[in-house]
Formats: sequence, structure tokens, C-alpha cells
Amino acid sequence: MTVRDAMRRSPAKPVPGATAGRRAARGEVYLVGAGPGDPDLLTLRAVKLMRRADVALYDSLISQDVLALLPARTERIYVGKQRANHTMRQEAINDLLVEHALAGMRVLRLKGGDPFVFGRVGEEIDTLSARGIPFEVVPGITAALGAAAYAGIPLTHRDHAQSCVFVTGHLKDGSVDLDWPALARPRQTIVVYMGLLSLPAICRKLIRHGLARDTGAAVVQQGTTQTQRVVTGTLGTLPARGAKAKVHAPTLIIVGNVVRLREKLNWFEPGVAKAKTASPS
Ligand code: SAH
Repeated sequence: MTVRDAMRRSPAKPVPGATAGRRAARGEVYLVGAGPGDPDLLTLRAVKLMRRADVALYDSLISQDVLALLPARTERIYVGKQRANHTMRQEAINDLLVEHALAGMRVLRLKGGDPFVFGRVGEEIDTLSARGIPFEVVPGITAALGAAAYAGIPLTHRDHAQSCVFVTGHLKDGSVDLDWPALARPRQTIVVYMGLLSLPAICRKLIRHGLARDTGAAVVQQGTTQTQRVVTGTLGTLPARGAKAKVHAPTLIIVGNVVRLREKLNWFEPGVAKAKTASPS
């Protein structure tokens, strides 16, 4: 049951003796996409739910600028995962969500980008459903869309790319397990999440499966933030350029000739204020 369902089915009845501002008897959980880093890219729904949260659980992709928008009264719990004890940690996160919701709190689960894009919220939702805890999912701007826009790289373009795929470059048993023939197709942009460690292997495989060595390729580090860095090259040159520039996570790899359009379309200068327009805040 979602929060909205719950509200529809049981309109909030005043609890005897309750005063305005007191917590609801039953808690709820908001699984909210926090976007790629720039707080201006949060949705209105995300900001509204942040304002009413009693407790916020967040991981390492959530920028300080986004956290700064939480009210001072909101309890903050860092639940960043470590590679080694992943399973344990996920169970602990599930337990924390349930525990706080059962205590009657409004629980905000902040996820980087969009919760349903490489977001691993399935298990959290399973646990909430099993316990009958109402929840809501709020989409966010996924890193690929944010980083591409702020790097001046359109993901599709009528002259260069008719399709775009998002894949994970996460290493499984030390190697990248992807459908290479399906990726190495002409006129297609590939965006790789979690791919920095496997950058050399990814470029090699794409060339071996038929993409030209001089296909454009870029690494975007900390896209949309004031510390964004973009390294561009080709499938042949990017691994060495990335290593030389000492890029570090979080990064996205973008492969395709749309990367060349950055020369003309690049507009974002980290550290320099964006165009001043009428702003709601
Ligand atoms: N749910 C998230 C993705 C989580 S997987 C989303 O929709 O964006 C984590 C990966 O996302 C990182 O390893 C990195 O590849 C990518 N990522 C997240 N934020 C990023 C950013 N600001 N710049 C570049 N890559 C980012």
C-alpha cells in the first residue's frame, strides 16, 4: 500500500488528545530520488517530503548541498555501504526503515539520482510491503541525464545517435559481464554507471566488437556539482587520459560520437554561478 492509498483509504482522523504538529500514530517511508548532486535538480515533491521528514537515511552519493535542505529537527542517519559487507548492511538499512516507521515517524530514504535506476530499492520495498508500512517512490534525475546535460553532451542526436543505453560496469568476479554485440552498435550512445575501474576493459571490448577506435568517449566525474570534471577522448585514448587526470568516483562513462558535440554545447562552468533567473527560493 502506498502513502497515497493509505491516505485515501483512511483519511487522517484526529487522535484523541492529539495536538497539531504531533507525529502520526503510524509512520510512512518516502523513497526519494535526490538527483545527481546539484540541489536545484531536486523535484518539488522531494523538497516537500524533505521538509516534513522526521528522520533521513542517506548514502554516500547524497551531496552536502542536498542534505543542507533538511530541516534542523530532522535526524540524519548515514547508511553508506561498504563493498565487503554489502548484504549485512542492506539488512541493517531495511531494519532501520521499519523500526523508525513503526515508531510513527515519517522516514525519508534519500537515494542518489533516481531510486529505480541502479538503485537497489527492491529489497527495501519488499521489506516495507511485508510489514504493511505505507511508502511512496519519488523519481529523481538520474546521473546519466544530469551529467550529460551539465557536460554539454546530448545523449541522442539525429545525426549521431538514435538510441541510448544505460548499463552497469560493475565488476562481477573481476570482469565486466555485458552484452557486447548489443552495445557495439552504430548510432547508439552508451552510458556506463559504476564503470571507472573497468574503463580500460570496456573500451577494449567495444573496439573488439566492432566500434571504431576513434569513437568519441568521455568520463564525467561528480556531474552537475561544483566539482564536476569532464575528460574527453576516444575509445582508443580515454583510458590513458582518465588515468592521467586521476579521475575518481562517482563517474559516468559516455561512449558515442555525441561526445564530440561538447565542443560546441558545453555551457556549465563549475564554480561559476549559473544564469540568474527568477528562482522560487
Ligand atoms: N540511482 C543512481 C545510480 C546509483 S549507482 C542514479 O539514478 O543516478 C551509482 C553510480 O551512479 C556511480 O557509481 C556513478 O557511476 C553514477 N553517479 C551517481 N552520481 C553521479 C554523478 N554526480 N556524476 C557521475 N556519476 C554519478
